[in-house]
Amino acid sequence: MTMLKEGRPTRPVALAQDKATANPTITGNKALMLEEALIFEIGSHETTGVDIAPAPQVKSRLGGLERRKPIALPGLSEPETVRHYTRLSRQNYGIDLGFFPLGSCTMKHNPRLNEKMARLPGFADIHPLQPQSTVQGALAVIHELAEWLVTLTGMHSVAMSPKAGAHGELCGLLAIRAALEARGDARSVVLVPESAHGTNPATAAFCGYAVEDIPATPEGRVDLAALKARLGPDVAAVMITNPNTCGLFERDLRTISEAVHAAGGFVYCDGANFNAIVGRVRPGDLGVDAMHINLHKTFSTPHGGGGPGSGPVVFSEALSPYAPLPFVEKTADGHVLIEEETAGEHHAGSFGRMVAFHGQMGMFTRALTYIMSHGADGLRQVSEDAVLNANYILRSLEDVLDAPFAASGPCMHEALFSDKGMAEGFTTLDIAKGLIDEGFHPMTVYFPLVVHGAMLVEPTETEGKAALDQFIVALRSVAQRANAGDAALKGAPYFAPRRRLDETLAARKPVLVWTEPEAVAEAAE
Ligand SMILES: *Cc1c(COP(=O)(O)O)cnc(C)c1O
Repeated sequence: MTMLKEGRPTRPVALAQDKATANPTITGNKALMLEEALIFEIGSHETTGVDIAPAPQVKSRLGGLERRKPIALPGLSEPETVRHYTRLSRQNYGIDLGFFPLGSCTMKHNPRLNEKMARLPGFADIHPLQPQSTVQGALAVIHELAEWLVTLTGMHSVAMSPKAGAHGELCGLLAIRAALEARGDARSVVLVPESAHGTNPATAAFCGYAVEDIPATPEGRVDLAALKARLGPDVAAVMITNPNTCGLFERDLRTISEAVHAAGGFVYCDGANFNAIVGRVRPGDLGVDAMHINLHKTFSTPHGGGGPGSGPVVFSEALSPYAPLPFVEKTADGHVLIEEETAGEHHAGSFGRMVAFHGQMGMFTRALTYIMSHGADGLRQVSEDAVLNANYILRSLEDVLDAPFAASGPCMHEALFSDKGMAEGFTTLDIAKGLIDEGFHPMTVYFPLVVHGAMLVEPTETEGKAALDQFIVALRSVAQRANAGDAALKGAPYFAPRRRLDETLAARKPVLVWTEPEAVAEAAE
């Protein structure tokens, strides 16, 4: 089998023979799990769910650009439409359906109170170009959330507009570049530890920096000696994730920051894992200059298909003058939106804007609701419970799955396992596919790259003990099958709507356009 560097198979393994499950029914339906064709395959151009009166005959003013042939979109009746989308939705997995242990993602419950607040007309029905006097409440939400973020991180200021973690990284590095340019110090290198999230080196490269790896120690942390040896007048910044993607706290971060600052560089902290330390550690105390916060991770706003992300960036005093606009400021006359760099002394060297308007308003309302409903003590409890849950998983599974850094002590909010100890020919992918049959979304696999066949499990604090115990039973069973070389596992998943796919082909050559079968046939002739 061909393997990538980190041990992921690049081709699907031949399926085990299992006639009974390969073709179980004439319809393809599996009891209540219904097969559903593409809407293009079931819809007809002639069908419609509504009767529309014929369009009045008017003289076209389109100058000959009007459509001559029907648009030929697939049509369905109303009940057919409802069933089509309901069937598709049942093939989806989400946090409202079950445990979502995806590591480095903090897939926590999205409280319904957040949704209720975000839907209040005073927040939901406003426009970013409205006069400021008519949106004082919304500006107050942005300002109050900003104060919470600054306080929780012990930093000096925060830019609210970046729209995701990776966008926040870009924002942080642009501020660092602006600060270096302001002192006439063009530096060309950004140092990134081996265990970094892929967005870190991508961001640095996008900003035009040369990216250099910093190795990890055998216990999974940044190699301080190697980092210090590489520092010099060409290093603009170091990007460090804390807690890191091995689920460990970078205990040397303060020493690292002092060394980076002494060498004239800046420290960017990837704060995506803030859920493990919120209310307990203030990155500002560790010498961090810029850090993004994923509101859609730590602060419970929806993720992925559930809604847009939001990645505010907190800044140290040294970087604050270069942060992007706009900012909300509280004055004696109410809240004002600072949109020009000349308008306020704090924003003198701003590098510009990240987005057209002020950021993800709906997410700000949700995140502030979450923060206020927890309170400062509740947020401390969040990180404690998240870490406790991850350690419960680590210790409950380390006898059946190799846990490479378990000897280093407790983990933070994620438990990391490797494929060491599985029977010949069995991989992390088999475990992930086996878990699907057991009704669980798999954990993050093959990341971080520093661990061969990595499995990264992040339970978050919103799972109770019963859910964790069910997951542990399922993962134990699948791991034991992989260790014992149970050939049937190689055919999993058996019960999912689709079996093992050629994921490489799907990623490299995705079929994104539906072509009518007649057109395909004609082209072939
Ligand atoms: C999620 C994550 C990111 C990227 O955040 P997005 O909001 O997905 O852009 C960066 N670093 C780490 C460690 C992450 O977990």
